[in-house]
Amino acid sequence: MVNYIVVTGGVISGLGKGITTASIGKILQFYDYEVTALKIDPYINYDAGTLRPTEHGEVWVTEDGGEIDQDLGHYERFLDKDIPKYHNITTGQVYHAVIEKERRGEYLGKTVQPIPHVTDEIKSRIRKASEEGVDFVLVEIGGTVGDYENVLFLEAVRQMRLEGEKVLFVHVTYVPSIKTLGEQKTKPTQHSVKLLREIGIQPDFIIARSEEPIDDVRKEKIALFCNVHEDDVISDPDVENIYAVPLLFEEQKLSKKIMRKLGLKARRRGEKYREWKDFIERIEDLREEVKVGIVGKYFDIGSFKLFDSYISVIEAIKHASWKNGFRPRIEWIDSKDFEKDKRKLKILDELDAVVVPGGFGLSGIEGKIRAIEYCRTNNIPYLGLCLGMQLAVVEFARNVCNLKDANSTEIDENTPHPVITCLPEQIEILRESRYGASMRLGSYPAHLKKGTLVHKLYGKDIVYERHRHRYEVNPDYVEILEKNGMVFSGKSPDGKLMEFLELPDHRFFVATQAHPEFKSRPMKPSPLFDGLIRSAKGLL
Ligand code: GLN
Repeated sequence: MVNYIVVTGGVISGLGKGITTASIGKILQFYDYEVTALKIDPYINYDAGTLRPTEHGEVWVTEDGGEIDQDLGHYERFLDKDIPKYHNITTGQVYHAVIEKERRGEYLGKTVQPIPHVTDEIKSRIRKASEEGVDFVLVEIGGTVGDYENVLFLEAVRQMRLEGEKVLFVHVTYVPSIKTLGEQKTKPTQHSVKLLREIGIQPDFIIARSEEPIDDVRKEKIALFCNVHEDDVISDPDVENIYAVPLLFEEQKLSKKIMRKLGLKARRRGEKYREWKDFIERIEDLREEVKVGIVGKYFDIGSFKLFDSYISVIEAIKHASWKNGFRPRIEWIDSKDFEKDKRKLKILDELDAVVVPGGFGLSGIEGKIRAIEYCRTNNIPYLGLCLGMQLAVVEFARNVCNLKDANSTEIDENTPHPVITCLPEQIEILRESRYGASMRLGSYPAHLKKGTLVHKLYGKDIVYERHRHRYEVNPDYVEILEKNGMVFSGKSPDGKLMEFLELPDHRFFVATQAHPEFKSRPMKPSPLFDGLIRSAKGLL
């Protein structure tokens, strides 16, 4: 029988529930359990593809082409496995399915209601994940307990336990420290658990997020007021390295406690624990820095800047740096600065490498093109991802091929040289304003050209990377770009789409139409990021 661990959140959002969920999965893997995870998002959007990154962070792309909440990225990275798109359940999908069934007459004669019809739909979607032959399904419920919009999801998991399924509830809360008091306060946690219990859910564990570890006095208090055993209050203080969280849980014997509560036979800890522990110890000892600049556009939210939209790029840089023995230092560079003042480009000299990540829209584009030109002409290692590849082509067309005002038609529809154009199948979609799940999405193969740097880095003839875009290199310009020295080192199997490019005379100038950051894992970095870091440190 499959075991479910439901993770809810309390007090505030942004506690790192995704990392907590992924870390619980990881400690179960330490005991050789098969684990998977799914994320429930209570919004009405069908998927995350149409959400603004400033509000919701990065859009994660799955192997099978789902545009998903970024927490699935944490699951993939921690659990080291691909998670399919149906592991993201939104209110939009659930209601859509229920209404379609109603129209088909599947509930004929019945009044279709939130309970039981919507909750039944939710349960059947959660249960589907258990058919993958796993021991554990982790279910993270988005939002905060007390929100109006996640109530039906909580109701569904409450029913699952009542129906005899093996379900444990983990509640992640926040224990703030008030400076003027010099003390950690548990009241918000007490209130949040009270709300959860009103819904009919008694948490089995409370994971207390806080700046500093919580002490025994706080544990006792939380235990008493929240009706849990003291041992089941797990301290989860801020850590510098998110991948250390599983070890923090393991030290507090959370996995053993989970197994005991679920009546599972005690198991020995396997190889995976050692591997992870050695990995964490090794990276924590690293001293020498590698400085990587991400040239993007950064959005201010009030007085704060949001970096969440590049989370997988950041993680991929970390993985590659660690593998090569360096401590990554990421510099945030706002491309708009280069538009105002060209002299600012000098700051790129202080970096070991530069990345231009994916993006949409017009703002900051010319600044990015200037940064790419600077990297190309000053031999600074450069990696372009999706938009970062498209702009590398624009820059090369303008400044090397002398194609004046060359551009992407996404940016300038009337450019005399549309070196980047809309994919043919995308033109119709855009005309009809069908924006949802309509880009070129998910994993696609590319054939790599022997003798190129990209081929050497991957060490393979055919590679699969994930995509999310509408535009591509215009086939009409490939010849002139190649004649001027640009090498397309990877193409789609029919040879029509340019998937990878490089400049052979440069130390490291590589770009791809794909998003290799989505396949980077802590101990298995993406080959392109690995190459970038090695080149940055003269190891390539
Ligand atoms: N906006 C570009 C396109 O749609 C690039 C997308 C991206 O960087 N993911 O093709």
